[in-house]
Amino acid sequence: MGRRMRDGFVYNGLPIRVIFGDGTLARLPEEVERLALKRVLILSTAQQRDQAERLAELLGKRAAGVHPAAVMHTPVAVTEMALARVTAEGIDGLVSLGGGSAIGLGKAIGVRTGLPHLAVPTTYAGSEMTPILGETDNGIKTTRRSGAILPAVAIYDVALTLGLPVAFSVTSGLNAIAHAVEALYAQDRNPIVSIMAEQAIGALVRALPGVAADPADPVARTDALYGAWLGGACLGSVGMALHHKLCHVLGGAFDLPHAETHAVLLPHAVAYNAEAAPDMAGRLAGILNDGPQMESQAGNALQSFARRLGAPTALRALGMPESGIDHAADLAVQSPYWNPRPVERNAIRTLLARAWAGEAPITP
Ligand code: NAD
Repeated sequence: MGRRMRDGFVYNGLPIRVIFGDGTLARLPEEVERLALKRVLILSTAQQRDQAERLAELLGKRAAGVHPAAVMHTPVAVTEMALARVTAEGIDGLVSLGGGSAIGLGKAIGVRTGLPHLAVPTTYAGSEMTPILGETDNGIKTTRRSGAILPAVAIYDVALTLGLPVAFSVTSGLNAIAHAVEALYAQDRNPIVSIMAEQAIGALVRALPGVAADPADPVARTDALYGAWLGGACLGSVGMALHHKLCHVLGGAFDLPHAETHAVLLPHAVAYNAEAAPDMAGRLAGILNDGPQMESQAGNALQSFARRLGAPTALRALGMPESGIDHAADLAVQSPYWNPRPVERNAIRTLLARAWAGEAPITP
């Protein structure tokens, strides 16, 4: 970082109020009041409807109702149905409860209406900290970035994450680590975001084995949520590279599950970039091995960590057809995101083939 520091840097702070702790949901009514909101709509997936109903009770007369219709990848048709309700019921604010799917719906309505949005995240995906919105229409996912997309408030309550199933906690945690890893070699990285990234990886690497051993362990859950917040802040602050590009390609082309795809691909993306981004690889290997290690081992160390936690390590286990490898490689090299190492089709095909089969990551 020393040489880069001399080059100067740009740091954009995220204008969002963050409330973090155990039992912090109790502060939601005062936050809604602080924004002078009188009729908020509570957004969730169908799976979290009961939690959303309890949140409505907490808000009392300031809650206009629960809209449990959020689904993954934020389809525009789902947003339009929610918008009709917002208009018909005179809604003046939004509370999203859940992971990236519920928060995505809150962002989609917020950016169209200008309504204030309070996010209550219950996974480690980090969407609440980003001015980014991905939406699907007719099977095509498009992503946009705007300050109007960022929620006004994020309330992180450790208690809400205790029931997140272990398998999903692990893959969602690896999703958060992915944001931090790519922030360490982002083209627009800066010292503040690099500190957040290293802290995020450290907290999650410490936390996830504890969560897997005892999903109700409040210390492990606190570290995991803290790491997820920092990982989300990395994603919201600097540009992402090859890893996120590959996840977007595979998610869009084969409808693969978001967190699991991140979990499988990250060790391979780390290995691909290790030589070109030795600072990232050295820091990551050091955290994973509890001491300084060879940069070249970072991808392997990460895959071993994920495997020990029971995370998937093969794209074929997520439902990707082998015949899709070439198509995915073609898509990945079309309009690639900036990456510390050039994105070469043959090397990407090798990476994808190994990730599909669940093989060890190499630097192709
Ligand atoms: P998700 O929001 O789809 O959640 C997965 C499932 O787990 C849902 O059924 C949800 O209701 C349930 N769930 C969530 N928290 C729970 C809890 N504590 N206990 C029990 N069940 C719980 O999954 P996700 O990985 O959080 O989000 C994925 C979506 O978010 C994708 O569409 C992705 O593109 C988007 N995303 C966007 C950004 C961004 O910055 N725009 C960042 C990350 C993810």
